[in-house]
Amino acid sequence: MSRQRLLVIGGDAGGMSAAAQARRIDGSLDVVVLEQGEDTSFSACGIPYWVGDLVGSREDLVARTPEEHRRRGIAVHTGTRAESVDLDACRVTAADGRTFDYDHLLIATGGRPSRPPIEGLNAPGVLGVHRLDDGARIRAAIDALPRDRQGKAVVLGGGYIGLEMAEVLQRRGLAVDVVLADPLPMGLLDADMGERVCEAMRAMGMGVHTDQAVREVLLDRDGRACGVRTDQGTYDADLVVLGLGMGPEARLAEAAGLGIGVTGGIDVDATMRSRTHENVFAAGDCVQTYHHLTGEPAHVALGTHANKQGRVAGSVIAGRPARFAGVLGTALTKVGDLEIGRTGLCTTQAEQAGFDFRTDVVEGTTRAGYYPGAEDIAVKLVTEAGSGRLLGGQVVGGAGAGKRVDVLATAIWGRMTAEELSESDLSYAPPFSPTYDVVAVAARVVSRAERG
Ligand SMILES: Cc1cc2nc3c(=O)[nH]c(=O)nc-3n(C[C@H](O)[C@H](O)[C@H](O)COP(=O)(O)OP(=O)(O)OC[C@H]3O[C@@H](n4cnc5c(N)ncnc54)[C@H](O)[C@@H]3O)c2cc1C
Repeated sequence: MSRQRLLVIGGDAGGMSAAAQARRIDGSLDVVVLEQGEDTSFSACGIPYWVGDLVGSREDLVARTPEEHRRRGIAVHTGTRAESVDLDACRVTAADGRTFDYDHLLIATGGRPSRPPIEGLNAPGVLGVHRLDDGARIRAAIDALPRDRQGKAVVLGGGYIGLEMAEVLQRRGLAVDVVLADPLPMGLLDADMGERVCEAMRAMGMGVHTDQAVREVLLDRDGRACGVRTDQGTYDADLVVLGLGMGPEARLAEAAGLGIGVTGGIDVDATMRSRTHENVFAAGDCVQTYHHLTGEPAHVALGTHANKQGRVAGSVIAGRPARFAGVLGTALTKVGDLEIGRTGLCTTQAEQAGFDFRTDVVEGTTRAGYYPGAEDIAVKLVTEAGSGRLLGGQVVGGAGAGKRVDVLATAIWGRMTAEELSESDLSYAPPFSPTYDVVAVAARVVSRAERG
């Protein structure tokens, strides 16, 4: 009997997690990976910190090279773009004309950065942040700036990639303007929490220009980007960096005839199997998943999910049952010294989901007030009215604040009430929190209010 072949399209988090897991479980499986670029298992998450000189080199951002994967028995073909999939013949054709047959196909083509039709957006000097090559281009652009004056950068978008890039560009000595269409940065925070982020960015010396529609990227005589014009102003720039959001890269799957969900991601079940073709799986930024609380379809482009989903798909393909249990939208970032975390439903999402809910904000410090380095922290809870069940949490504060969001995510995941969270055995020592951590205090405030 010939060996069963798993063919993987895309050699990063989703694809390589699936490939490695399938191979680990079933050593007899023939695992072949097609990757259009030259890198595998790279950390896009680290690009801002590499641009900011906080990470030594590009190599540091590669967890496992193609050669390392090959040594583990995975046949990686780099520089090989999958051009089309014939679902009836179970065959993928690459851009160079080679064909690859499969028994199981795993699509992990990742995300597609949003590029709205704005005049000048494709000009030199406008730089995306998606792959390691983008990081290299941004570094080169910074290095090429004239030294006799301060360079200027305009960041388009106020999501976490925009914020992280704004911070590191400033760290590299550039004057930074962030331009966003929304009223506040970090759109999945409630306004009162987003305002704290906005204030912190302005206090760092960044220009934060909210509620503005970009009309065009201005070009100099050589056709290079030299500024951005919005409906409210003009901002000079030596480089324009894009952080406008990420959609699923599902064009290859859609053209092949695979089912696509309402979010534009590949429609898969909890085992990451296509709902329309049973020997096809998909994982990572290219898929539609679902919200763990509401059960509603969701597209959340994060590495945490891509890795887990790839592992689930690899397990199932190799014959071991596994399921991906959905997402809460838990995310963490920082700008300067301010740490920002969110999980579950924000106010707008709770409204959309039809919950009757209350919100509470509690302020405190990250450490015992007398301990050096205690910083301000604010925790916001969204809880179901009546039952006190936790629906969402947001955390904004100084060093040490952000990871508290994981306590909230765990409590929401476990469907705990605020009262149960307030009674939980949470740790305390002065260097880490006050006697009652602000998370526990917030939960207690809610449970008291619920009890009337
Ligand atoms: C700047 C930045 C910071 C981030 N920070 C975080 C963070 O802090 N935390 C977090 O959880 N997530 C973060 N993310 C998101 C995270 O990087 C992604 O969710 C994750 O990389 C998705 O993995 P993936 O395998 O689905 O897709 P990708 O990483 O996009 O990989 C897809 C791969 O498929 C290849 N490919 C695509 N089409 C084809 C084709 N037709 N043929 C062959 N190969 C193809 C691509 O070249 C690519 O290598 C960040 C992303 C960026 C850009």
